[in-house]
Amino acid sequence: MVGDGTWNQPAGTITDDTEQALCIARSLVEHQVFDPADIAERFVAWYDSGPFDIGRMTMRSLSRLKHGDEWDEAGQHVWEQSREGQNAGNGSVMRCPPLAIPYATDWDRLAEVSRQSSQITHADSRCTYGCAVLNLTIAGILDDTETPLGDALDYVGSDAPDELIAALESLARGESPGALETSGYVIDSLQTALHDGLFAESAEEAIVTAVNRGGDTDTIGAVAGAVAGARFGASTLPDRWLAALDAAEELESLANQLT
Ligand SMILES: [Mg+2]
Repeated sequence: MVGDGTWNQPAGTITDDTEQALCIARSLVEHQVFDPADIAERFVAWYDSGPFDIGRMTMRSLSRLKHGDEWDEAGQHVWEQSREGQNAGNGSVMRCPPLAIPYATDWDRLAEVSRQSSQITHADSRCTYGCAVLNLTIAGILDDTETPLGDALDYVGSDAPDELIAALESLARGESPGALETSGYVIDSLQTALHDGLFAESAEEAIVTAVNRGGDTDTIGAVAGAVAGARFGASTLPDRWLAALDAAEELESLANQLT
């Protein structure tokens, strides 16, 4: 774990991915239910704190929320005003895994709250269903199923966009796609992060592999880490990482309260 990368931050600094995951987790713990309006309010408070990095669609949606849009309007408006190529970033997928813990055994509700959590800033169906597939996969892992990604894809079925299913199908069969992309496009990020999270032999290997690919490192690392964390358990994370990590204590406490 080293610091002074792209954003010149010390080792262990959390980024927008974890900041927003914390907003979701805190809301779930405090309200004991998924409350998208409350989560949107927490996102706006974080946005007002002046983060050093924030995604474009997230910034535009949170700005609209701040000026009065409802939780289910802002992301939709921003999506309608964005052109193909700039309308399906990974900004909602990277923060959604806390939902998979309390809703792990209720797949209908988990898919629904995952999609709604995306809609706050990312309304494209590749993003909303990307969140659903990721969280259903994590739920399957927590339930010790043999084929968590395949089960998740079967569950969302033809409701999910073809492009999302096509990108993840071969991974679900255990095949590694030829090239793994590291862009902020939700399909690229999900494919690469699920590959690293599902195929690695340890949580450490998954996260190091994902982060060292470069590109959108914090997000691919966050998603791969969520999957690998569910597979191998928190106790397998290296102590030297946890000691350096900002918010480690709160993350652990929230995770315990979400179960
Ligand atoms: Mg990122």
